[in-house]
Amino acid sequence: MEIELAIIGGGPAAYSAGIYAVRAGIKPIIFEKDGGGGLAIFSPNIENYPGFESISGIDLMEKMRLQAKKYCEIRTFEKVKKIQKNNNDFYIETIKEKYKSKAVIISTGSEYKKLKIQGESELQGKGVSYCATCDGFFFKDKKVAVIGGGNSALIEAIYLKQIGCKEVVLIHRRDQLRAEKAYEEEAKKNNIKFLFNKNVIKINGSEKVETISVKDVINLKETKLKINGVFISIGEIPQNLIAKEMNIKLDEKGYIIVDKNQRTNIKGVYAAGDITGGLRQIITACAEGAIAALSTTEVLGKNYPY
Ligand code: NDP
Repeated sequence: MEIELAIIGGGPAAYSAGIYAVRAGIKPIIFEKDGGGGLAIFSPNIENYPGFESISGIDLMEKMRLQAKKYCEIRTFEKVKKIQKNNNDFYIETIKEKYKSKAVIISTGSEYKKLKIQGESELQGKGVSYCATCDGFFFKDKKVAVIGGGNSALIEAIYLKQIGCKEVVLIHRRDQLRAEKAYEEEAKKNNIKFLFNKNVIKINGSEKVETISVKDVINLKETKLKINGVFISIGEIPQNLIAKEMNIKLDEKGYIIVDKNQRTNIKGVYAAGDITGGLRQIITACAEGAIAALSTTEVLGKNYPY
């Protein structure tokens, strides 16, 4: 099947790119590997996306997805396996079909980073989770630990306390948080307990999580904490496999390098959203998606005055 523009991904960058592309006279198809929404759907509460004082990630992404769907086709649960460039065309192979496209926007985002410690994968779904919105409900009146010191960890910890966890302990490997001050203050107001300078080295339990082993980074002392649930929130890793296989230039952390028009080093390929690193916010993903979509006009032979 021949298409004008393939947008790979199902997050805010992809949806925004779809909307802007159609409005610029381009016919895109958005390819989602799953039901869509990206990592943002795991955010219990978003308070910094202008226009919504407070909205859950699921609701905001659903609104964006529905809006994009009004404009363009979204092929859902159609993971892109491979993209090959031949002359000025891109040959795209998904798990369902083959396509030929004149331009590509990669907005594949990122996924949760793993601690890679004993017990983590064995007990996933049995007390180990990466998403408080999805699994927090099961830990009402229970004691949980949140691992990490960034914005996400703080937001998860506050959410877990607010939905009724008996005790929420935030465990961070350094002596200070990476998160914004506002989240730190909010966490303190919610009686979140902080354990600084500690690494979680093992998650213990047979059928479900029972304890975690924690090592102090200064005196190297190991202790065990009784806990019912562990929420791991230690950042993300870019989903760059397609980009790597196309020899698209990445930075040292694996994010796609783009110019101010979202161009990659390969003509006709643009990137937008979390996959380009940097601020990694919904608002910047939307903006990058819009810029990428309009930039594709330069290879699609359309006139767009920008
Ligand atoms: P971050 O990369 O900001 O933070 C990850 C945290 O996990 C850091 O505190 C880091 O420690 C810690 N960490 C990393 N690896 C390990 C490890 N192996 N063991 C123990 N701890 C580890 O990730 P987030 O998911 O919090 O945020 C991702 C991006 O999204 C950021 O840019 C963030 O600003 C943004 N975001 C913004 C929000 C908002 O503005 N409302 C909400 C949520 C996310 P250390 O500090 O020592 O490096």
